[in-house]
Amino acid sequence: MIKVSNLKKNFGSLKVLKGIDENIEKGEVVVIIGPSGSGKSTFLRCLNLLEEPSSGEIIFDGVSITDKLNDINKQREKMGMVFQQFNLFPHMTVLENITLAPIKVKNMEPVEAEKTALNLLKRIGLEDKINTYPNQLSGGQKQRIAIVRALAMSPEVMLFDEPTSALDPEMVGEVLDVMKGLAKEGMTMVVVTHEMGFAKEVGDRVLFMDEGKIVEEGTPEELFNNSKHSRTQDFLKKVL
Ligand code: ADP
Ligand code: MG
Repeated sequence: MIKVSNLKKNFGSLKVLKGIDENIEKGEVVVIIGPSGSGKSTFLRCLNLLEEPSSGEIIFDGVSITDKLNDINKQREKMGMVFQQFNLFPHMTVLENITLAPIKVKNMEPVEAEKTALNLLKRIGLEDKINTYPNQLSGGQKQRIAIVRALAMSPEVMLFDEPTSALDPEMVGEVLDVMKGLAKEGMTMVVVTHEMGFAKEVGDRVLFMDEGKIVEEGTPEELFNNSKHSRTQDFLKKVL
């Protein structure tokens, strides 16, 4: 579904991604781990072109999204993204947050968009929050709404950038549960996280990034129990 070839990203003279090659299959849950500053967020942001790659190619659904001649916006609509800081629109209700993009970007009828939003809210048990503003929600509720907002666009792949890192510990579980449900339904997911339990339980593949490269990748079993690289082992020693 996503094929990344020799992806590089520089910020000025700072080389952040130093040549990433990676294929993500439909239905796969790929977990990215690695130290702070290793380029995990930049990699995710390049996948949906929130950052413009310096060189290399990304093919999504058979379309090169790094080729400026192609309609990037059409492709981008098929990728949902969830951030550490939720990024809900503070001046809009939950319903407005969820229906904005489907109505504005996909030209969905408002009635239709609202029906979809309500169904999604029911799924996460927050239908009673439909007219609430984000500042009246807990962190866990905000993040579940942010996930549902991305799902309202019917994406083909969901990108998560440390979705539980800003949450109080007691709220991590409810967000991970929504993500586990998505994985079970077959959603293609790329997840940057420090939740090693989630990586082990849900990940089909785990990538260890360090200094702008994928140092090692494998099944959770391979990476967590039989890692081949000392840098992976050193990192895991600190987080496990
Ligand atoms: P991670 O998510 O693994 O912590 P990031 O991708 O956020 O790493 O950052 C990798 C490196 O790129 C860091 O040194 C960071 O300071 C730098 N960086 C990220 N975004 C920018 C930017 N917009 N401008 C300049 N430097 C950036
Ligand atoms: Mg990051």
